[in-house]
Amino acid sequence: MSSGLITHIQRFSVHDGPGIRTTVFLKGCQMRCPWCHNPETYHRFPEIQVFPERCIGCQACAAVCQHAAHEFRGPDHVYHRERCVACGECVETCYAKSMVRVGELRTAESVVAEVLADRPFYQRTGGVTISGGEPLLQAEFASGILELCRREGIHTAIETNLAWPWKVVEPLVPLVDLFLVDIKMMDDAAHRAWTNASNEHILDNLRRLDALNKELVIRTPVVVGVNDRPEQIGAIADFLATLRRVRQYELLPYHPLGRGKYAALGLAGPPPEFRTPTSAQFEMLAAVAARANFVVRVAGTVSSGSRTVQPDPEQVDLNQQQHT
Ligand code: SF4
Ligand code: SF4
Repeated sequence: MSSGLITHIQRFSVHDGPGIRTTVFLKGCQMRCPWCHNPETYHRFPEIQVFPERCIGCQACAAVCQHAAHEFRGPDHVYHRERCVACGECVETCYAKSMVRVGELRTAESVVAEVLADRPFYQRTGGVTISGGEPLLQAEFASGILELCRREGIHTAIETNLAWPWKVVEPLVPLVDLFLVDIKMMDDAAHRAWTNASNEHILDNLRRLDALNKELVIRTPVVVGVNDRPEQIGAIADFLATLRRVRQYELLPYHPLGRGKYAALGLAGPPPEFRTPTSAQFEMLAAVAARANFVVRVAGTVSSGSRTVQPDPEQVDLNQQQHT
């Protein structure tokens, strides 16, 4: 029986593959994209999100904490994250719900039991999607869920960064119907600078999956000043044009909605310079990406902003220190 850490299970999702899906978010990722809107999936361990604006100052948390992680200095409530072992005692005690524990240890069987409860809604197109974080950081757990779903005849998709040696990816091939994969940029030096990982394995694995006839949906989260130049998107489209099994290429707008989550986790958030491309930019990029062998789709809402942003070595370094 395999087990692993999840952040949550999203029911009735329509953004993580075809049809209505149940998406399982595994906790932990080896990459550190500063535009990530799910920073609660960075670490492969449970942690506490703190929302100080909800605190009513009752001090019940300090009374139950065995690790002196809650301190009150007059009216100020100081949470010492470095002392916290994320036991969740204070979360249970907090009447105001000022804290949330993220990270739940689950067996593959218990996850699939939840998935099966949604099966009546899948109809012909829906199914399960394993997401994250990066699912392959818990490859055995991910495989366990996929295998059980497969036995039940449920359509399976995985949202993975594919930044792994082929020997890690290969065992998934018979278990997965659809791979959803990001290509952030083709320039490997820039990819390393922004994400803390090379894109070499990603591109190599995509070629291998394509050769094995696996269905692919490719996505690019577009951030103004990072990867919104036409030649950057065009280079990705050129690569995708060499593959046969790309069903769709999706351009996803960066959005700053995750900033509050970073603060709640005590993390530095995305650089304030990050902007969402405008609708006009997306239209232009979609035209640049158009190729004969796949559909281009622009997902989500877009607003405004335009300036060039460079990877800030201090920011990247800070993120890496905080997330490792
Ligand atoms: S238990 Fe909750 S509301 Fe009370 S002081 Fe602690 S965080 Fe604030
Ligand atoms: S989760 Fe546990 S260790 Fe962390 S602050 Fe709350 S009671 Fe203390």
